Amino acid sequence: MADASPFQARGDLVDGRQTLPERADGELVATDPGDTRESLGAFPFAAESLERAVAAARRAWPEWRDATPEFRSAALRRFAAGLQSGREQLASVIAREVGKPLWEARTEVSAMIAKIDITLTQGLELVAERAFELGAGQVGRWRASSRGVFGVLGPFNFPGHLMHGHIVPALATGNCVVVKPSEKTPATGQLYAELALRAGFPAGVANVLQGDATLGARLAAHPALDGVLFTGSYGAGRRIREATLDQPWKLLALEMGGKNGVLVCADADLDAAANAIAFGACVTSGQRCSATSRVFAERAVADALSERLVKLFSGIAIGHSSDPGAFMGPVINGAARERHAQVLAWAAADGAEVLVAGGPAEGPRPGHYVRPSLHRLRATSRGSRYQSEEHFLPDAFVVAVDSVDAGLAALDATDFGLVASVFTRSRATYERAARVVRVGCLNWNAPTVGASSKLPFGGVKRSGNDRAAGAASTLYTTFPQANLEVAEPGPAAVVPGFPSLDDRVGTLPTLRS
Ligand code: NAD
Repeated sequence: MADASPFQARGDLVDGRQTLPERADGELVATDPGDTRESLGAFPFAAESLERAVAAARRAWPEWRDATPEFRSAALRRFAAGLQSGREQLASVIAREVGKPLWEARTEVSAMIAKIDITLTQGLELVAERAFELGAGQVGRWRASSRGVFGVLGPFNFPGHLMHGHIVPALATGNCVVVKPSEKTPATGQLYAELALRAGFPAGVANVLQGDATLGARLAAHPALDGVLFTGSYGAGRRIREATLDQPWKLLALEMGGKNGVLVCADADLDAAANAIAFGACVTSGQRCSATSRVFAERAVADALSERLVKLFSGIAIGHSSDPGAFMGPVINGAARERHAQVLAWAAADGAEVLVAGGPAEGPRPGHYVRPSLHRLRATSRGSRYQSEEHFLPDAFVVAVDSVDAGLAALDATDFGLVASVFTRSRATYERAARVVRVGCLNWNAPTVGASSKLPFGGVKRSGNDRAAGAASTLYTTFPQANLEVAEPGPAAVVPGFPSLDDRVGTLPTLRS
């Protein structure tokens, strides 16, 4: 594997074998968004692989479900060791396909390695079997049962870590998976498949397919799946929900977009707040579900905060993924770059004042480069596309608010509910924010980005359907089964009207069928 080019197609991982489709339905082209002079490689895909993968996963499930936790953990530990030794190659492929700087891609692979250990310790502990004494001779057992076969769909921005975040807990709890990585990152998907193959999971347990959004939709709607573990946009998550309305047995874990806000209170450390906001808005070129795009500042500190933000947003170093001095690479494709121009027009239509004029820009090479943009608004407007939609670009706006309560209300006034941060020296303000702002992640004096793998990660409202991932994902990859256990059955309970067997047994004629 290490010698072959990661951009040369070697096929889908199905039933323990990696093979190219016999008859392709299409191909995905890997590109470097930071250098578009030539494509990196082409990866064929076929719906026929999907059918074989689902069948293989169904066949493999009973044995994998019944294997000991130690057996499953050993396979996952081998996977972690493979990720560790393939770390540099995987990081460089991610950096190349997404355009993010190599330092950032390395942190993604580190998170993937850590995910395995956290799942096998904290994740399994969360669903450990529990038993209670219920009454005379009766025990109640609460058991986490494996669900079966999951379809897993991943986004482009963390093309390894986010699908892996679903896959590892699914496998650790005895499920099999059919994975379709993002169509924008096929080489990362293929390398991930190769590392899974090397880990030596039993055939059919982990299947990885190339495919576009249409193949993703077909996977999500497949009637032989027990669930769909999805990370991506609200629009695609909504379509998955719609496509599975007649499949009520399917568990849907939908991790979707965000429109994340920061409230800076008058007592905050302004340098810390500004650093967190600029980092959160610009890292990964704004292409994080947790990216900061809305900033509310108490009026007394709004100008001082804006001044700091102007300095930071203007100073972000932009470069190709291989440039060690770059903080921000390009955006994923030409459509995203064009969208930045559209977003600036929407901001102008809202009467926003331009603090830092960003948008499509020249880069060090021909590619999809943009510069961060920053705006100041006089007031918010709920109907504005600029203020309400997720743009997935390095752009933010600042608005002054008259009080902490007004700021908390503004943080909450969005259809999304993924992350919010509050900068204040007051614990009481932070505690109040945690109660009133409806988000899955509420941070205190910390950026909206940079979640810990030791915590749950997921959103409410349009950001998720209450199936938090991260450290909580073993809760949805299993279902709670209740057992009433009576090891030594005794006499029936005496209750009014229920007959007794004692004086009848032996008095009736023998019953024969
Ligand atoms: P996307 O929705 O375009 O694609 C995600 C995956 O879903 C891809 O594999 C795609 O092929 C597949 N897909 C698309 N349409 C589908 C359908 N109808 N049925 C089934 N599968 C379908 O997202 P993207 O552009 O790759 O990623 C960006 C989005 O992901 C942003 O909205 C971002 O906020 C979100 N995201 C969320 C989280 C989170 O944890 N909440 C993390 C990262 C990214």
